[in-house]
Amino acid sequence: MQQPTTITYTTPTCLYCGRHGQVQLTETEHYALHTEPYIQKALPNRTPGEREQIKTGIHPECFDALFGPNPFA
Ligand SMILES: [Zn+2]
Repeated sequence: MQQPTTITYTTPTCLYCGRHGQVQLTETEHYALHTEPYIQKALPNRTPGEREQIKTGIHPECFDALFGPNPFA
């Protein structure tokens, strides 16, 4: 059985640690990310922490360090 193609998506520079991150997206997710204005709709199966990192670059652990535990996680 064929595995779905995944794309390594480089996230923006994290405000907290200053590093990029990488998230594996499926082709469908990658396409949705570029066509759907609302990330919640583009990536409905991702955790809020993952969506935050993809959108703003802030890693889930860095988000916690900055703002405390994510109330939406
Ligand atoms: Zn970080």
